[in-house]
Amino acid sequence: MQQLQQRVGIIGGMSWQSTALYYALLNKQIHARLGSLHSADVLLHSVDFQHISSLQHNQQWGDLADLMVHSAQALENAGATAIAIATNTMHKVAPQVAQAISIPLLNVINATADHCRADKLQHVALLGTRFTMQDDFYRDGLNNYGLKVSTPDPDAQDLIHRIIYDELCQGVVTDTAQQQFLAIMKDMSEQGVQGFILGCTEIGLLINSHITRHTLVDTTEVHTRQIVNHLLGH
Ligand code: GLU
Repeated sequence: MQQLQQRVGIIGGMSWQSTALYYALLNKQIHARLGSLHSADVLLHSVDFQHISSLQHNQQWGDLADLMVHSAQALENAGATAIAIATNTMHKVAPQVAQAISIPLLNVINATADHCRADKLQHVALLGTRFTMQDDFYRDGLNNYGLKVSTPDPDAQDLIHRIIYDELCQGVVTDTAQQQFLAIMKDMSEQGVQGFILGCTEIGLLINSHITRHTLVDTTEVHTRQIVNHLLGH
């Protein structure tokens, strides 16, 4: 009988809405792959997101890096064989975290870029928090894989950012927000975008392949597949 040799340490709670999705997806995928009573071997450090969000909006990225490093080291010391940060935005400090641990950091940006390339996408739209859409770390990470990246116009970015923090991260999913996202996506697809990176782990609560025919790259799904591959020793 196959036995899981790996244990992933997840830094979550950013927000807990998407961490709950991670937990369900990881266990469903492990069960689908191994059957019977198999489930994902996981250590979770779930943070208080109010504090994290305040630091983000005050641009205190050094303090945020320290918090993520501390959490990753604690998970490593507790026996994790790899670390996953269950949010796109906090990958802004992924280099500091990767450097501070001696186990792999399962990076959502690299997994997303790999997925886009396998899907033959060349020009993608990046939807996420303002930090993810405006700062260089995510765009550069995708550009390194040869992907052309577009972001919504500034008003649309403000709207998306507000919906993420004021609604999705608080478990609020409305038809209005869904229609607003779809309108932004329609505009961008008319500008030649081939696929949409749902580059925030909560966007999948609002947008999925049942409600749009656009090609979607849901980072929560991509990241959990990457984690499952680690758990299975691939
Ligand atoms: N979960 C979101 C993301 O994937 C946003 C919350 C955060 O700022 O970490 O970016």
